[in-house]
Amino acid sequence: MLVESLIKETVELQGFRVATVEQTGKGLEAELMSDERYVPRCGRCGGRALYRDTRSTRRFRHVPLWGIDVYLIYAPRRVVCKHCGGVHVELLPWVSGKRQFTRALMVALATWARVLTWEQVAGLFHCSWSTVATAVDEAVAYGLAHRDLSEVSHIGIDEISRKRGHVYVTNVYDLNSRRLLWSGEGRTKETLEGFFDWFGEQHTERLEGVCCDMWQPYADVVKARAPKAVLVFDKFHIVQHLTKAVDQVRRDEIREKGQTHKELMTKTRYIWLKNPWNLTDKQRGRLGELEQLNLKINRAYLLKEAFREFWSYSCPGWAIRYLDKWFWWATHSRLQPMRDFAWMLRRHQKDLLNYFKMPISNGIVEGLNNKAKVKSCPIQDEHGARGVSRAR
Ligand SMILES: [Zn+2]
Repeated sequence: MLVESLIKETVELQGFRVATVEQTGKGLEAELMSDERYVPRCGRCGGRALYRDTRSTRRFRHVPLWGIDVYLIYAPRRVVCKHCGGVHVELLPWVSGKRQFTRALMVALATWARVLTWEQVAGLFHCSWSTVATAVDEAVAYGLAHRDLSEVSHIGIDEISRKRGHVYVTNVYDLNSRRLLWSGEGRTKETLEGFFDWFGEQHTERLEGVCCDMWQPYADVVKARAPKAVLVFDKFHIVQHLTKAVDQVRRDEIREKGQTHKELMTKTRYIWLKNPWNLTDKQRGRLGELEQLNLKINRAYLLKEAFREFWSYSCPGWAIRYLDKWFWWATHSRLQPMRDFAWMLRRHQKDLLNYFKMPISNGIVEGLNNKAKVKSCPIQDEHGARGVSRAR
C-alpha cells in the first residue's frame, strides 16, 4: 500500500488529491492539490463558491506513521461566496478552523489523552502539551455539537470546582452513554435553568430520572422544570457530606483537647475517613488502639460505618425504618456535625428514598476536567447503579 493510499484512508479529501509524497528531513510530506472536477467550497458556510486567488502554502500535522512525522502541505484558495457574501478561505475538510493539525490527529490525541497523561501523549506524538490540550478541547466541543438528545432518559448533575473551590462549573451528563451533555459556569439556580433552556421542553418531557447533590438550588430547579422525572440524590455526594462531618468532629476534638491530643491524633485522619477494608495492617492496628479511648471521633466513625447499611435495603420501607434509627443515634450523639448531617437527610428525606425506586448515581464522573490526567473507565458502584466516572 502506498503512503498516498494511507493518507486517503485517514483524511477527508473530497475535492482534493494527493499530488506527491516526499521524505524530507522533517518526515513525510504529502503535497495536496485541488481536484479540478470539484467546485471549491466556502470555508465559512460550506456553500459552493468561485475561485479568486491562492494563498501561501500551509503545513498541517497529521498522525505519525510508524514514528515518522507526517505533514500535509497545501496552498489554500480564497473564494468569493455568494451565499454568505465576501471573500473567504476555502473549506478544508481535513482540518477544523485555523488549526495546524488534521482532524484525524486531533482524534488520535484526544483518544490517547483519555488513558495517558497529556505529557505522555505529547511525547508519543512529538507535539507540545498545548496541542494536546487544544485537541481535547476540540474533541469535547465536537462531541457537544454532535450529540443526539432524543435518547437521553437519565441525567446526572455534578459540580466541579476549579481554582480550589472558588469557581464552580456545573456539568450535566447523560448517565446511559456516560457523555457530557452540557457545561455551565456557576452552581446557582440560574446555571441549571440555563441547562433546561438549552435542553428544551421536548427532551425534558422524556427524562425519567435526574441525579444530583442535595443542593437546594438544584433540587428546586429540577422539580420545577422536570416535574415528571424522579429526583435522586447522588449517593456519592451524600457519602462526601458524611465524610466531611466526620472530619469536622476530628478537628473540633483536637481544638478542644489541645496539644497532647493533637499529638495522639497525628496521621490518623485517613484512618477515620477511609473504608475499613482499605486500611493497611498498621492503620488497622492503630484504629484498634484508638477505639479503646472513648473519643468523639470514634463515635462519629461508628456512625459513619453504620450508615452504610442504609444503602443495602432493596425496599424503601425498610430503608426508612433504618434511617429513623440512625437519625436517633446521630441526633443523640452530642456531635454537632453529625447532627447537622442527620438533619440535612431528614429535610430531604422524601427525595432521598427515591434512590430505592431508581438506583442511579453519578458514580465517578467522566474525566473532562481540563487540566488533569483524564481517565475514562466507567465504574459501576457496588449496588450496580448506573454511573459515570468522575475526575478529581
Ligand atoms: Zn459562504
